[in-house]
Amino acid sequence: MDATVLARLFKVYEEIDNQTAALRAITELRCPPGCGTCCSSTRVEATVLEMLPVARDFLRRREALALLERSRAADDEGPCVFYQPERSARGEGCCGVYVLRPSVCRLFGYGAVKDKYGAAQLAVCTVMNEVIPRAAQDAAYAVRRGLAAPGFTGFARQVAGLDPALGGKPLPINRALRIALEREGLALQFEKGGKGES
Ligand code: SF4
Ligand code: SF4
Repeated sequence: MDATVLARLFKVYEEIDNQTAALRAITELRCPPGCGTCCSSTRVEATVLEMLPVARDFLRRREALALLERSRAADDEGPCVFYQPERSARGEGCCGVYVLRPSVCRLFGYGAVKDKYGAAQLAVCTVMNEVIPRAAQDAAYAVRRGLAAPGFTGFARQVAGLDPALGGKPLPINRALRIALEREGLALQFEKGGKGES
């Protein structure tokens, strides 16, 4: 994988984070402390491209094999292997790879989708709707009235544009991780083989 593609992927993440921060600054949308309900969903999807930085990080730390085994044992339709609810009790959030998490995870609770007329609609999270209903409704109304919110589709297109083969198809997150780990592990083996290492 060309390093510039991953550098550009992090630029996309930076833009998502900036737009999310701007929305938070203007609205009262907030995740309740310790909440990780979206991570416990069995429907989180990510692209292989977005799991490559995670795979590389675990390879660098020599923890990739254990993670590969975990991802192979995990159900493709099960919760993300990085979801660790016990971390939140220690004030560390629920995500084991927070800094490297894929775009969809950055958009949970703050992202917008287009309705059938092409207008942006905030995809309000059900937890926020229950815990801070007024803030959720006000923010949804403001987005309907034109307040900028980061768009799921636009950012998915940006990721796909970086590498259509690896970034264009969302897969169950555990499967995307597994493919990324196998791919990076193979690449490393080839690299070592080329250098005459075993
Ligand atoms: S990568 Fe992190 S934020 Fe995304 S679903 Fe998994 S635990 Fe949640
Ligand atoms: S986006 Fe919603 S479900 Fe996810 S952590 Fe925030 S409040 Fe909880």
